[in-house]
Amino acid sequence: MAIRDGFIGTIGDTPLIRLGKLSAECDCEILAKAEFLNPGGSVKDRTALGIILDAERNGRLAPGGTVVEGTAGNTGIGLAHICAARGYRCIIVIPDNQSREKLELLRQLGAQVRAVPPKPYSDPDNYQKVAARLAASIPGAVWANQFDNTANREIHYRTTGPEIWRDTEGRVDAFVCATGTGGTLAGVARYLKERKPEVRIVLADPMGSALYHWVLEGELCAEGSSITEGIGTSRVTANLEGTPIDSALRVDDQQCLDMIYRLLREEGLFVGGSSGINLVAALQLAREMGPGHCIVTLLCDRGGLYAGRLFNPDWLREAGLRVPV
Ligand code: PMP
Repeated sequence: MAIRDGFIGTIGDTPLIRLGKLSAECDCEILAKAEFLNPGGSVKDRTALGIILDAERNGRLAPGGTVVEGTAGNTGIGLAHICAARGYRCIIVIPDNQSREKLELLRQLGAQVRAVPPKPYSDPDNYQKVAARLAASIPGAVWANQFDNTANREIHYRTTGPEIWRDTEGRVDAFVCATGTGGTLAGVARYLKERKPEVRIVLADPMGSALYHWVLEGELCAEGSSITEGIGTSRVTANLEGTPIDSALRVDDQQCLDMIYRLLREEGLFVGGSSGINLVAALQLAREMGPGHCIVTLLCDRGGLYAGRLFNPDWLREAGLRVPV
């Protein structure tokens, strides 16, 4: 691999991993893009970079400036790294029900962290709205606004999508992933559909998210809840709007949990909950599509971020889940 230029130069160009056992089970090729190998540890390094480069390009962010974001974690981690590399101050507003590991990490990376009580999006004290107000009150600050700033989906259109196309040599038949901001799905879907209109784009949704019904019936409607973090939403963000999506699959927490333990025990891959949702959906999609298809999804971040939750039997039992053996 060629020498890369600093933290920023190390973002992207992640490997596509063939998951042998899952592939054999459904007689399809199941490929997972190892986004946890980005230098900040998640798919959101790309988003953070896309947003900062865009703000620099359009003059909103200048040397000595401040980046403010409301984030459930991974975007904040990416922003904190890039702000350190570029000399910006970084302020992260985070709901206080997120994993302790993420909160601590953000502080260690040099970000100022403001933990706020979780509130629905409609509430003026929702963490994203707190971040917007905070940015507006600080001279020289920009609000990253990852949910509605389309520089997010743009970087996935320019990098994640082309990498999948290149590494599958155009064999990709379907792409499936869960969404938080929708940036990843939106950027990858647009790129792949342009190259190959028949490629199937499928949204994987955790319980408690409104997008499954939105894709299938056109109406935002949520049922249940989920222990997964960073995915699932109650609204159609500017990033998600207009995305060519063919169908949706819904995955519950137990299925997700069984899959992440399976990935660890069968493949040696230690990943977080959204990766579990993605792989359950990929396997389901493979069965629907039939043998011989190439299905691509993402491994979004590392399991270590969730050591106290997803990999803590006591916590899981308390959450009413069966601990996989
Ligand atoms: N997985 C994890 C672990 C995440 O943190 C996020 C982003 N919040 C996603 C998946 C979803 O990515 P996107 O925001 O591009 O939809």
